Amino acid sequence: MKNFFAQLPYKIGAFMVGRRGMDNFNVALLVTSVICMVLEILFGWRVLSWISFVLLIVCCVRCYSKNIAAREKENQKWLAASAKPKRWWNMLDTMYVNRKTTKYFRCKGCGQILSIPRGKGTMRIVCPKCKTEVMKKS
Ligand SMILES: [Zn+2]
Repeated sequence: MKNFFAQLPYKIGAFMVGRRGMDNFNVALLVTSVICMVLEILFGWRVLSWISFVLLIVCCVRCYSKNIAAREKENQKWLAASAKPKRWWNMLDTMYVNRKTTKYFRCKGCGQILSIPRGKGTMRIVCPKCKTEVMKKS
């Protein structure tokens, strides 16, 4: 039995040779599945249990698939689709962290988010993207 557990990591490694394993899309599927499970427990919606089950099956199939090119293509599509929401979330995080030292606002010309340091009086700001001038109190 001791020999079995000593050999287990090597056997798992040998099993995973030529397989994709976990990637960003699988992690997203897994997280969505867990969220569906929690919502099913909280609200009792049976359909979420089935959605969670299907997502877990897809996650397992993708994880152990030997068609690495197809899985990589799916993962790249996921990364491209999730890039914009991730950037938006990271911007919100940065704005929250710097909220006491920096004031954020949108450019009226192009919608670009601009930042100025707080407590420096009224400032003339030129948008680096569209060159629109704005006077703002910091
Ligand atoms: Zn602008």
